[in-house]
Order: sequence, then C-alpha cells, then structure tokens
Amino acid sequence: MVNLSQVVSVLETLYPLRYAEEWDEPGLIVGDPFARVSKIYCAVDPTETVVDEALAWGADLLVTHHPLFFRSVHTVAGSGFRGAIVNKLIGGHCGLWVGHTNADSAHRGVSEALADALGLVDQVPLVPLSDDAAKFPVGLGRVGNLAEATTLEELAHSVVSVLPPTERGVDVAGDLSMPVHRVAVLGGSGDSLFDEVRASGADVYVTSDLRHHPVLDARQQAMREAQLRSGLSRGDTDSSPEDSGIARPAFINTPHYASEKVWFKYALEDIPDAVIARFGESEGGVDAARIEMRLSATNTDPFTAHFGPSRG
Ligand SMILES: [Zn+2]
Repeated sequence: MVNLSQVVSVLETLYPLRYAEEWDEPGLIVGDPFARVSKIYCAVDPTETVVDEALAWGADLLVTHHPLFFRSVHTVAGSGFRGAIVNKLIGGHCGLWVGHTNADSAHRGVSEALADALGLVDQVPLVPLSDDAAKFPVGLGRVGNLAEATTLEELAHSVVSVLPPTERGVDVAGDLSMPVHRVAVLGGSGDSLFDEVRASGADVYVTSDLRHHPVLDARQQAMREAQLRSGLSRGDTDSSPEDSGIARPAFINTPHYASEKVWFKYALEDIPDAVIARFGESEGGVDAARIEMRLSATNTDPFTAHFGPSRG
C-alpha cells in the first residue's frame, strides 16, 4: 500500500503547488506522511458533514478543493469549527489535502473540467501560466468555442444540465436570444477577470459569485460599445448591423460550489491512475497501489432554498 507522502507527491504532480495564486496555501493540511492510504474521499468543501462521511467510509485521506484555513492559525482547539474538523480528522486517522488555485490552473483542473463539460473546443487559459514542464496550456480560466453556435438561453440550459443540482440554478445577464459561440469560463469566483474575458472576445462568461455593480457596469459598457459599433457600421457592406449591435459579453452566474464540483469527474480518474503509474511496481504490483475513490454527494452550497419566479 502507498503512504500519504507518496500520494501527496502524485497530487502535487497533477496539481503543482507552484500554480497556486500568491495568497493561497494549498497542499497537505492534516496527516501523518507515513500513514497508509488506500481510500480517498473527495468534496468541494471540508465541512464537518463531509468529514463525518469520509470517516464513516473509512477514508485515509480527504481531498477538497476549498481550504480549511485562509488565515494564520493560532489554535486548533475544538471550540471552533475548524479546530473541531482538524481534531476529527486526526482522531479518525484521515489526512486532508487541498487542491485550490493550483487545481484551478492545472490541466484537467477545475476550469478545464468546466470548459470540457460545456463542450468547448480550441481552449486556452484566460490567464496563461508559463510552465516549460507542462504538456498542455495551464492557467486560470478557459476560453474556447462551442462546436455549434447556440443562443444565450440554450447555453444557460446547458450550464444547468452539466452542473450538480443546487437550490438556486443559474442567473443570466444578457439578451437570451443573442447568438453564442465563444465562451469564457472560470470555476469559482470570477469577477476579477472581466478584462481578460473582454480581451478574449468571449460572447459570454460563465462563472460564480458575480455581483451587482461589476456586472451592471460591464453590461452598460458592452451595450454602449455595441451602439457605437452599429452606428459606425451603417453603410459598411462588409459587416452585419445586427451582429455589431450585440452587447458582449453576457454573463451566466452559477452557484460557486457547483461550478467547481465538475472537476472531481477528472480527479476521480486521474488520481488513482497516476498513483498506479508511479508506484504500482515499486509497491508490489498494481493491486497494492490501488486507491479507492469516492465523491461526496453532499451539496455544500450554503444557500439552502430559493424563492421567487423560476423559468424551470
Ligand atoms: Zn472556489
């Protein structure tokens, strides 16, 4: 059987820590490096419910996307929920490894998984990272093209269908009938990348945690630019006035948890395969290095009910 430090070295080859944003501290948070690992439980958030599920299943390691700690820690006493989680994990002999912004930027990471789920081709990162060792483009977010153009309304339905269910569904800002071909995505909070999305030529940006002012401002600017373009294109026989009048980008705002959970479809395949490829022989054969994976079915979107009109 492989040990925790071997599994961590595989995880940090798939999702290199050098890809993480400067403020982020992903990696191994809890765990004895020599502990044996044969069962890995996965979830977006390391909540107490998720930890209880992991321990009940007999997991040796919990892999989550979101960190347990964002700030310096001075106590892990069980009087706080974070300390309680650390104590539970240690008591249950289960480690915790976090793949956060390093997993966002990686090949087959969070944003690539979302882009693939929507069927985007010719993908490139919105914020490319230079890594000579990487065989595929890496970096934050992805922009790519739909194989067949659709409408904003159809794309919104498609986003709902590829995301795990939540109470809230998705919100749309834009003309539902507008044609959509080029799509930018970022799993998780994406309102810091509006400039990159505009520069990418995307018709629509699919991300999470979008706020009133940034979206209202971006939509007003897009509408103003569309008015200017259609004014300038009048009498120009080469460009279509209808197309030049379209305000881009539109926005599709998804629950944060949902846009990131699609990553685990890849992680559930990639982690055990990579452990076997790396340690299958040295540890006494494929069976000895086999890792059982399970994804939590718990919805950790903190919003538990949605009231109001629904488009269904
Ligand atoms: Zn996130």
